[in-house]
Amino acid sequence: MESTPTTSARPDAVAGIPMPALRNHAATHQEHLLEDLRRIVHAETPSHDKALLDAGLEVIRTLAVERLGEPQAEARTDGGVHGDVLDLRWPGRDVDGGEITELESSVLSVCHYDTVWPAGTITGWPLTAEGDRLTGPGVLDMKFGIVQTLWAVRALRELGVPHAPLRLLLTGDEEIGSTAGRPAIEAAAAQSALTLVPEPSAAGQPKDRRKGMVFADLTVHGVQAHAGLEPEKGASAVHALAAVVPDIVALASPDDGTTVTVGTFHGGTSRNVVAGQATCQVDVRVTEAAEQDRVAEGLRALRLPQPHAADPRLRLEIAVDANRPPMNPTPASRAAMDRVERLAAGLGRRITPAAVGGASDANFVSALGLPVLDGLGAVGEGPHAVHEHILVSEIAPQTALLAGLLADVAARP
Ligand SMILES: [Zn+2]
Repeated sequence: MESTPTTSARPDAVAGIPMPALRNHAATHQEHLLEDLRRIVHAETPSHDKALLDAGLEVIRTLAVERLGEPQAEARTDGGVHGDVLDLRWPGRDVDGGEITELESSVLSVCHYDTVWPAGTITGWPLTAEGDRLTGPGVLDMKFGIVQTLWAVRALRELGVPHAPLRLLLTGDEEIGSTAGRPAIEAAAAQSALTLVPEPSAAGQPKDRRKGMVFADLTVHGVQAHAGLEPEKGASAVHALAAVVPDIVALASPDDGTTVTVGTFHGGTSRNVVAGQATCQVDVRVTEAAEQDRVAEGLRALRLPQPHAADPRLRLEIAVDANRPPMNPTPASRAAMDRVERLAAGLGRRITPAAVGGASDANFVSALGLPVLDGLGAVGEGPHAVHEHILVSEIAPQTALLAGLLADVAARP
């Protein structure tokens, strides 16, 4: 699209992108951003409530069309029991004011609209301003990212800044593993010039490392019996599964960044009954892909230790889900982070990418070697917690940064 040779080290590299003006645009329109945020925070979208997810997605779609006009293309994928995926595209604009519509020139913004908060939370906890803090369920994780994306493009349009086309992918099951979202995210990212994930920032910093995850559910089926009258007729599932726990925990390797946690352990029905069933849930976090494979295989290979192994009445069932791969810097994402550093400098900010334990949908994109930037969203604290909030004073610079990236991709593909 543009043949001008460029080097990212050029000191005037952000010269064509008016970062302060983009920030001022968001600051000037802050009341509108806050009103939009109120609309979508108050449309509750718990991951497991399909009716509310559908209604919330409609609220978001309506808002997006109000802010950016009818999309150039739109596709909706049925998520089954999970939230649907909505794929919306708007054209970019070149230096001559012409439309850019090519898919491969697009910047993809991946936003999940589901939250961890159950229906009715909003009644006792509406979106509330307390000084610089704006608190409400899902405001940080990650409804602000949706509003931020829409207003980034609006700022570019109103200031006449050339920018890449926007592809906005709204997914409704990130908080429960992205079963429906993952294939859509991977396909869209592969077609895009750059993927942005405006998940919460790390105190204003983007995230370039996230741990990967393995989930495992272990169940032992045994035989119930009266604990006093005839315990020998029983085969305790609790005793057997408890004996497996040390082998689960032994799969951890803290030096490699691998942690293993048995988060829940349930079994039995009553004190005086030999337990007929026991289950436990295991959470594994890894920083290296090889560790994810090692621990997943280790979990699948678990067996009941003696003497339980010798008892044919006991059966161990193992379900392992190597959910999200770890995210580590790749050549593609490092080049994308260079863009952020240059643009942030235009706002007088220094970028120090952060490593975090939690995973996001960026993990999927990064594992494919595609350029992805994560943690570009709100500055705040308390995702998944009752003190969840964003800082109002950071809305404008964070929105400007997102806008700058859309402009930078158009200027320096
Ligand atoms: Zn999130």
